[in-house]
Amino acid sequence: MKILFLDQSNKLGGAELSLADVAKPYRSDCLVGIFADGPFRELLEDHQIPVQVLTNQPIQIHRNSNFIQSIGRTGSLVPLIAKVAEIAHNYDLIYANTQKALVVGALASCLSRRPLVYHLRDILSADHFSRTNRRIAVMLANRFASLVIANSKATRSAFIEAGGRSDITAVVYNGFEPENYQIQPSSLTQLKQQLGINDQYVVGHFSRLSPWKGQHILIEALTHCPSDVTAILVGDPLFGEEDYAKQLHKQVANLGLEKRVQFLGFRSDIAPLMASCDLVAHTSISPEPFGRVIIEAMLCNSPVVAAAAGGVVELVESARTGWLVKPGDVRELADVITLCHHKPELAAKIANQAQQQLQVSGRFYLSATHQQIAQLLHQLMKGTPNSLDP
Ligand code: UDP
Repeated sequence: MKILFLDQSNKLGGAELSLADVAKPYRSDCLVGIFADGPFRELLEDHQIPVQVLTNQPIQIHRNSNFIQSIGRTGSLVPLIAKVAEIAHNYDLIYANTQKALVVGALASCLSRRPLVYHLRDILSADHFSRTNRRIAVMLANRFASLVIANSKATRSAFIEAGGRSDITAVVYNGFEPENYQIQPSSLTQLKQQLGINDQYVVGHFSRLSPWKGQHILIEALTHCPSDVTAILVGDPLFGEEDYAKQLHKQVANLGLEKRVQFLGFRSDIAPLMASCDLVAHTSISPEPFGRVIIEAMLCNSPVVAAAAGGVVELVESARTGWLVKPGDVRELADVITLCHHKPELAAKIANQAQQQLQVSGRFYLSATHQQIAQLLHQLMKGTPNSLDP
């Protein structure tokens, strides 16, 4: 099947890493069209996935735009929409991976008469998007998409609550290749030495720096933990949130935590870093659509504490495969960190249970994701209703 994938970003966010995985089986015949040049193009090229930068004009639709601004700005997309429609004639379907890609893909699908698939990786709620942008996304998906693939039940529910059609949606979880997360403990010694964390209790946080990802919650929680608990913050501000990064540095200085918090910036060696941590913390204060880092930590056999909102509650069973805490609750987070620190055998047991459950169910394996998406696309091309094998 020949697929034209579309993604608005040039950065390596979770949506882009997931799309690179989705596109792998189609690499001989697909094209990933992106709306800006950067590291995402390089990653796709590294995986031998055909990629084309379709425009170098910045796209001006913001998460909090109002209706007039959004529609006005859509006009500036006309050349891009025309280009995508022309390219789409050589493909069987258009597969939009982000919201701006949906705007472009919907109109291009209409012009080229190619079916549209929307892979929904956002929770369409007021926490994340203006009312206008939610309405535009839902209207375009309802009107133009033949299939909406939601990356969690929470994402699907938010779409339907915002007015999205339930008959065109299916849930497909992100998938991972477990072999990429198998790290020999002996290979970690050097990394720990480089980071100076050999003799410390280390809590890892892996995410772009963004207020809703809640790195500030972890920093504050450290003040309620034993003094040998330290944190590594892995990630950069990806989408213009540099002010938040500055605030975090200030917070660390104000709390006198300079020796206990390290900012590592964006890293590609996520698996060894996670395996070097005693605990991985996920601290989003708004509902997380999926939370790739949680499954990645489980595959690395690191215990996880996560904020219980959105898709996260579908990934973690509290006190069995990790711990769930109330989003934004500093004390509760500190209590779990302290518990894991004092009871390393319990933390190891929970991490083992999580890893085993992933192995037994295969639910978050990339092979399962590929199989489900292939089935849905096959049904779409045959014109039969969307459904997945139980
Ligand atoms: N990540 C990375 N390098 C970093 C920080 C994060 O490669 O420095 C990866 C992380 O391993 C995960 C993805 O970025 O695979 C983030 O996905 P998630 O679903 O957690 O959040 P999103 O970016 O989609 O909001």
